[in-house]
Amino acid sequence: MKSTKDIAELLDEPACEHNKKEKSGCAKPKPGAAAGGCAFDGAQIALLPIADVAHIVHGPIACAGSSWDNRGTRSSGAALYRIGMTTDLTEQDIIMGRAEKRLFHAIKQAIDTYSPPAVFIYNTCVPALIGDDINAVCKSAEERWGVPVVPIDCAGFYGTKNLGNRIAGDAMVKHVIGTRDPDPLPLSVQRAEMIVHDVNLIGEYNIAGEFWHVLPLLDELGLRVLCTLSGDARFREVQTMHKAEVNMMVCSKAMVNVARKLNKEYGTPWFEGSFYGITDTSQALRDFAKALNDDDLTARTEQLIAREEARIRTNLEPWKARLKGKRVLLFTGGVKSWSVISALQDLGMMVVATGTNKSTEEDKARIRELMGEDTLMINDGSPKELIRIVRDYQADILIAGGRNMYTALKAKIPFLDINQEREFGYEGYQGMLELVRQLALTIESPVWHAVRATAPWKISFNPSLLKGERTMKEMVHG
Ligand code: SF4
Repeated sequence: MKSTKDIAELLDEPACEHNKKEKSGCAKPKPGAAAGGCAFDGAQIALLPIADVAHIVHGPIACAGSSWDNRGTRSSGAALYRIGMTTDLTEQDIIMGRAEKRLFHAIKQAIDTYSPPAVFIYNTCVPALIGDDINAVCKSAEERWGVPVVPIDCAGFYGTKNLGNRIAGDAMVKHVIGTRDPDPLPLSVQRAEMIVHDVNLIGEYNIAGEFWHVLPLLDELGLRVLCTLSGDARFREVQTMHKAEVNMMVCSKAMVNVARKLNKEYGTPWFEGSFYGITDTSQALRDFAKALNDDDLTARTEQLIAREEARIRTNLEPWKARLKGKRVLLFTGGVKSWSVISALQDLGMMVVATGTNKSTEEDKARIRELMGEDTLMINDGSPKELIRIVRDYQADILIAGGRNMYTALKAKIPFLDINQEREFGYEGYQGMLELVRQLALTIESPVWHAVRATAPWKISFNPSLLKGERTMKEMVHG
């Protein structure tokens, strides 16, 4: 079980913007906050996209059941991550003291059945409370079967989902990163004498396969992605992350400790960026070139940006006319707020208000820069308040996370899901086309007209409509 000191250290993350305001780093969980995900949930969603690993949840069935497959991340090959594995602890296991034994057998079963390159063990509340030593079990299983078995000590009661993201990152730095060097470049690339730079993306989850919009651009520029932690990643890629020349933090909060620790231990510089919207995608590519300090790469990056921006702006034109001036209420947290605002503004839409309950002071400053000083920032995301703002500010659409979907639909407000459960990828230049298509289809759907119209049975009865028919009075009284 993690000591209070370990947890305090993870919370007190110097690279986290929240730390500048209050020393606690992350906000302490408030009563009821577990509804937003416990530390175990945070750790599991951070690492589950590593597609070829056997992910075993050590705990009662409910922990695995309520968290499995909750991120729409895609894999380009291996699919072991889609199989939910758990030790399924019961009262009997706890009373008889055989939880560690069950874990040992679960690891054996996973290795025998699937031959994974590694097994990740997620600790949950119950085994942490009864004092299971998962580090010792993992160590002895690794010695016995010769497969890396990585303990991720992330019991739910340690704290919030965000803390869980950091625990996951910390486990990767401690147990996985630096255990293998990257493969040599293919001979064809070596012969081409092209300078290839190795880079990592941290906090990129490949939701709905959206990173595949960006990857071809990085390939074209000669940026070899050693690992995306963790979307569409493989264990052997995570092992090589220490060799990157630069790291990009794609989501500023989750796993920021990985970027900072890689900088401290291996001297790898890092920058924060986003691939949502034309402006931010171009900026991220420029930031790579700048961090790598390569003049040729800078020139090629500018050429690629000019070509891609021209192409995408031409393709967006017919859609822009349909969306121009439409009013948006954006309710999403943190880094996503400002990056999505910039994407919507690229489309000529007007963001009337935005949620900032998860945003740092820096995020808020950026939002003010984009939207002006008088912008409405929402901290209260209750259904009642969201509906009031949509009505008062005459928003045409609510863009938010999946949990707000039913609020919007019950209030007959067009809704677009922007969070991790969504079905469509919005990253990169190509992702803008998908975003614009989904926005237009949502706002223009005939369903809004139909559900807002008065129900046919509520329209007052008009006997004159019954041409040639007997009136209701005649029908009743003969
Ligand atoms: S780890 Fe703890 S808080 Fe999280 S789901 Fe399991 S029992 Fe609940």
